[in-house]
Amino acid sequence: MITSLLMISQVFDRVYLLQLPIPFPVKTTNVYYVDHSPRTLIDTGLKTEASFEALRKGLEALGIGFRHVERILITHGHIDHYGQAKKLSALSGAPIYIDSKEYGRIRSILHSLGFLKSILLRNGVPKGLVEEAIHYIESAQALADPLEDAFFLKDGDEVPFQSMTLKTIHCPGHSPGLLCFHWPEKKILFTGDHLLKR
Ligand SMILES: [Zn+2]
Repeated sequence: MITSLLMISQVFDRVYLLQLPIPFPVKTTNVYYVDHSPRTLIDTGLKTEASFEALRKGLEALGIGFRHVERILITHGHIDHYGQAKKLSALSGAPIYIDSKEYGRIRSILHSLGFLKSILLRNGVPKGLVEEAIHYIESAQALADPLEDAFFLKDGDEVPFQSMTLKTIHCPGHSPGLLCFHWPEKKILFTGDHLLKR
């Protein structure tokens, strides 16, 4: 059992938590590696050098490289969860799975900034604050690659492995299309940000 390294821990038999650095107050984002066939990552972390290296080293400690990853599941479309999915998919050939609403939000966010700006201004938000908000969104989006090719999952879908099956549960709230992944036999639920510590 790997427990000595700070960034990686075994949370269950052949299920590992990799905590990847993010430059936000929460400091890390959770990525899970499920070491069952097909080898699967749940979420990916941001598209930063630090996050990429942390994931590379974490997987290396488990004896695998990016080329061994066979599937990428995304819980929801926030940059710290899908940010480097496209890059990892290109390196590994692993297909990406996500809820279609989250995919749509990821694809549309940069195109909708003009609309957002006009709504904020029309409703009396001071111009300086609007510029600041737009700038914040634009710089945050630079930490993630928009997804292109992806397969869609919805509530109740099955995500098969050779030895078990995860079931998707749609849990809107934190994000409209957030999916949790449930492993009923083991009473394990991968929740993304549906459950947060505080
Ligand atoms: Zn989130």
